[in-house]
Amino acid sequence: MLRSLHLKLMLIMLLLITSLMTVVGTFLMTNVSSFYTNSFYAQMKEVFDESNTDFVNSLRTEAAQSDNVSRIQAMIEAHSGLLGIDSRSRNYYILNAENGECLASSDAKGGNNLKDTPNLLAARNGTIGQRSDITANYMDVAIPISGGSHHYIIYILDNRENADDLNGQLFMIILQALLFGLLISVLLSFLLAKTMTLPIERLTDSAERIADGDFNSRIDVESNDEIGILTTTFNEMSDTLQSTLNEVKNERNKLDTLFLHMTDGVVAFSNDRSVMQYNPAAAQMLHCDDMDALDYNAFFQSNIDFDQVLSLHSPFYEDFEYTVDDTTLEVHLTPFSSETSGGVLAVLHDVTQQRKDQEIRREFVANVSHELRTPLTNVRSYAETLQDADEMPTETAHNFLDVIISETDRMTHIVQDLLTLSKFDYGHMEMIISRFPFTDAVDDVCNAVELAAKSHRHTLLRNYPVFPVITADRGRLTQVIMNIVSNAIKYTPDGGRIEIRGGADNDTIWLEVSDNGIGIPAKDRPHIFERFYRVDKARSRESGGTGLGLSIASEIVAQHHGLLSLERQDSPGTTFRITLPIHQPIQEVKHGEDA
Ligand code: ADP
Repeated sequence: MLRSLHLKLMLIMLLLITSLMTVVGTFLMTNVSSFYTNSFYAQMKEVFDESNTDFVNSLRTEAAQSDNVSRIQAMIEAHSGLLGIDSRSRNYYILNAENGECLASSDAKGGNNLKDTPNLLAARNGTIGQRSDITANYMDVAIPISGGSHHYIIYILDNRENADDLNGQLFMIILQALLFGLLISVLLSFLLAKTMTLPIERLTDSAERIADGDFNSRIDVESNDEIGILTTTFNEMSDTLQSTLNEVKNERNKLDTLFLHMTDGVVAFSNDRSVMQYNPAAAQMLHCDDMDALDYNAFFQSNIDFDQVLSLHSPFYEDFEYTVDDTTLEVHLTPFSSETSGGVLAVLHDVTQQRKDQEIRREFVANVSHELRTPLTNVRSYAETLQDADEMPTETAHNFLDVIISETDRMTHIVQDLLTLSKFDYGHMEMIISRFPFTDAVDDVCNAVELAAKSHRHTLLRNYPVFPVITADRGRLTQVIMNIVSNAIKYTPDGGRIEIRGGADNDTIWLEVSDNGIGIPAKDRPHIFERFYRVDKARSRESGGTGLGLSIASEIVAQHHGLLSLERQDSPGTTFRITLPIHQPIQEVKHGEDA
């Protein structure tokens, strides 16, 4: 099948050949005609010209004779070579000048049907008719000859048959040449197409492959001509394109990875408010499984109108806090535009923990101020009373001073606890790690609280086995156990039952302290390890509690890679459980000393 370039090339060749042949043919045939005409009139002029008076005079002489026509005819016959008379295309006629009758001629058909041509008419009027008319299909000259009383016209008529024959032959030759040329042009167009279109076809194939994303296709450069240069440029272009695309792909991958894994959520809304794109963090923060089904209105329209955001100009943005269930999000909205689309970009930042921390800090400061203000107020008022009352009984003054000392102790206690917690917070708490039998530590606490338990008529049950030797900070762990057992004594009405249980497995030991006391209400259980958290503030303060004991205890256990937890129990009372690894990681044993 002919490709379009083949066809075009062939048509161009055909057009070229045809127009060339037409021009050549026309030129040749016109020239042949005019040559023929010119040579006819030149011949005639040579014979009949006034300068060649001999022939014309002789004709006049002959015309005056009695058998003049045959004489004239004989003379013309004698000059027929010069005149080119061939009795076929060119004939002579001897006409009677008066009536135009043909008296003799070389024409076998006779000459009575001759047309009244302008030359013939001129001769009948007595002048030589030798005007040439290129448009006529004949050539003629008419020479009036008078001799005596006889008037004749020698009329030479050429019907251009020879010229037409010659033109006909020329036409045939040109036609053959044209056909031959056309044949050659068809062959040449194939040849040309092969050399020109094949590389172009290869370029097209390669360009198509590149358009399909295959950048590995390269074309061999086979020539140094324009097509060769085009091929080289094409190969260079596809190299550049490939490397540029790779760079773009890498950047895109980086951005995609960033987009996928960034902790902040990003949602892009298109101009029609639908969700264009979002990252997993956004879906998670907004607690939404099917983001595509929702639009801007479903999320933020009640906070800020979409069109208001669209009307913003960089670098301005809108931000507000958005709450989904128990999550607080900081939302930044800014418009974006690209060549193809535009819309609003929402960046979501989870500030739940931040807000909680702020709240905890606020509460903490309020708690510390409150805890310190009460004893300080007491100290001040007792001191002022002592100062104002000059004659106060010594015993009362002593009692006042005891209160001042105990309130000061309380403040010292609080400040020490706060210092301990702050050391934990900043990682400055140095642990004195050693190996010691855990049983000893538990026994020490039980022995120490025995009197206090007895004074409250509590039954103290020691149901723990012999624990393995553990690696830990003995002093701090004793502090933890003491805090829990003391709390059990404190928060159990007199005559209660306090049980200390324990056990061990390969890597860990556990210790549980349970009582049948007032228990901790369900709503307070999640907060029990928070700083300054107390279920019954009055009761705790009465018994000298600061609300910091359990938070310090839980920090100490955590420092030992263990867990202090409040256990669920069906019976009334409370159970705390300590779980500890038997061995601490190597690097923390460096401060230690063997027991
Ligand atoms: P406090 O110095 O007030 O005892 P803690 O941090 O040791 O502070 O305890 C926090 C709060 O937990 C206490 O105020 C008390 O309300 C509650 N609590 C702790 N242990 C018990 C227990 N065994 N029974 C009931 N409530 C307890």
